[in-house]
Amino acid sequence: MTFSPEFLEGRTAHLRRKQENTTRRLAGELPEQHRTYKIERLLPAVAEALTRISMGTYGICIECETPIPEKRLLKIPEATRCAPCQTEVEQDARTH
Ligand SMILES: [Zn+2]
Repeated sequence: MTFSPEFLEGRTAHLRRKQENTTRRLAGELPEQHRTYKIERLLPAVAEALTRISMGTYGICIECETPIPEKRLLKIPEATRCAPCQTEVEQDARTH
């Protein structure tokens, strides 16, 4: 485990806030594609990140299993892939 308890605490707080804000926004008016993205992609990713924090596997890339840089996790706390792997997956999704 390469992350400090303070870092993980900060990410947990941020993810919980994101979860609450997203849920609150779903109750209001939202363009359909945003609603679909939040329900199908964002909320599951946020919930998974919180689970991974409690299991001690947070911040490890699910593709190449290297630690994701803290800078990236500060920007995207629910990230499950390092930047190179994410780019690869997105390129794959576009070409297939
Ligand atoms: Zn990776």
